Amino acid sequence: MNDTIAAMATPSGEGGISIIRISGSAAFPLLQKHLRPLKEGEELDLPPRTMVLANFLTLQGEVADQVLGVRFPTPRSYTGEDVAEIHAHGGYSAAQVILENLRLSGARMADPGEFTRRAFINRKITLPQAEAILGVITARTPRGMYTASRSVQGETERQLEPLLGELLSFLAEIQVLLDFPEEEYSGETNEKLAERLKKIQHEATRLRERFFSGFLLNQGIHVVLAGKPNAGKSSLFNALLGRDRAIVTSIPGTTRDVVTDAFTHRGITCFLHDVAGLRHTEDIIEKLGIHLAQEKILACNIILALFDGSESTPEDPYLLELLESLSDAICIPVISKSDLRTSGLEDLPEKLRNHPLWSCPPLLVSSLQGDGVAKIKDCVVDAVAQEHLLSRSVYATERQLEEMDLCIEHLEDAAKALQASEELDVAASSLSLGLLSLQRILGKEWDDLLLEEIFSKFCVGK
Ligand code: GDP
Repeated sequence: MNDTIAAMATPSGEGGISIIRISGSAAFPLLQKHLRPLKEGEELDLPPRTMVLANFLTLQGEVADQVLGVRFPTPRSYTGEDVAEIHAHGGYSAAQVILENLRLSGARMADPGEFTRRAFINRKITLPQAEAILGVITARTPRGMYTASRSVQGETERQLEPLLGELLSFLAEIQVLLDFPEEEYSGETNEKLAERLKKIQHEATRLRERFFSGFLLNQGIHVVLAGKPNAGKSSLFNALLGRDRAIVTSIPGTTRDVVTDAFTHRGITCFLHDVAGLRHTEDIIEKLGIHLAQEKILACNIILALFDGSESTPEDPYLLELLESLSDAICIPVISKSDLRTSGLEDLPEKLRNHPLWSCPPLLVSSLQGDGVAKIKDCVVDAVAQEHLLSRSVYATERQLEEMDLCIEHLEDAAKALQASEELDVAASSLSLGLLSLQRILGKEWDDLLLEEIFSKFCVGK
């Protein structure tokens, strides 16, 4: 039997109301113990799912706050257990006093995500629905929120179940061939199997793309501005944000800490990081700043590589060398200060015009005049997800994406085993692993460690 848990379901601070949530067998006795009718002498009547105005009485017998109490009897509640809510006045103290009294009366303070975890254990929601609830809470844009909301309504299952079913029946077929090899197996069978697996792989890859764009819509993308001192990074940072956030000076080497802010474009939150200019230096503080910059460059999804367009040949061997040392970075080349430039892009060195690292041709920008800024925003979003993918996105968490990647890897292994032919058992075990990844996304396979990983990301009270 679960113990009874309690937590604030709203953030602490001044506001209209604070909600305290209680779940477990002692939830209703706790309400009875602490709530009193406004009129002395009357009985407290708490019909299910009906808000009732009452006083909250502390263990010392003092009224802490006038509150609304409501109870949701099992199983028709968020967690599936008896759930009670107390709506107190917002602020720092009322809800804290109420919560402390509930604790002293026997409730345990809930862990992060424990209500939702109980909802999952009690089969009120599936694992993808639970994760999508977190997505609704953390979404930074309405578009990210709608994507998560669709998965709260079962979109992840709708998209994944057919693939899971197809993989299951494929595996069953291979199992039959393994059990009765002499009767069924031939080169022709192998070709058919390979063909069928290709379709499954194609579908998995297609879904992975849709998951990835859902992940981006919900979590946002990280973009770093890289270039030498005075290339115009801070000016572009401000221009992209549409306000003066970073200090701009003509003195090289002013940005040392990482400055971060965000803008939203086409429903995607872009976290923009302005970092120290990259160059060889003996200045200790600047060196530290450059170290931070390099770390950020490694960690970001997209690098805006800035070259000072006011120079006749805006080369930057230091930056190019650094970028070339990164394996899978997405780099967008930007030629800054276009208002000071007499020529276009034609006379740029070949290495700058057509570097294999570039995900698009160089973009000319004048942060001073605003020319080219909108184009950079479009390229940033396009570099990670085209609009046709964004509009078909399916919400996904990092964990779900990782499982999807694993699934795709196992399918590839299975395909290789089939190509090598007669390695049906190897193919079958790879397919089983691929299947397991899908089952872990859908929560058909789980263990305490997995639940811990998922629910520890939730806030307390959810
Ligand atoms: P950072 O060191 O790379 O961050 O470069 P800043 O943004 O601080 O800019 C360095 C100098 O270039 C400052 O004097 C800016 O005013 C100037 N600057 C930056 N962008 C532009 C631009 O688009 N046009 C012009 N004319 N000057 C710019």
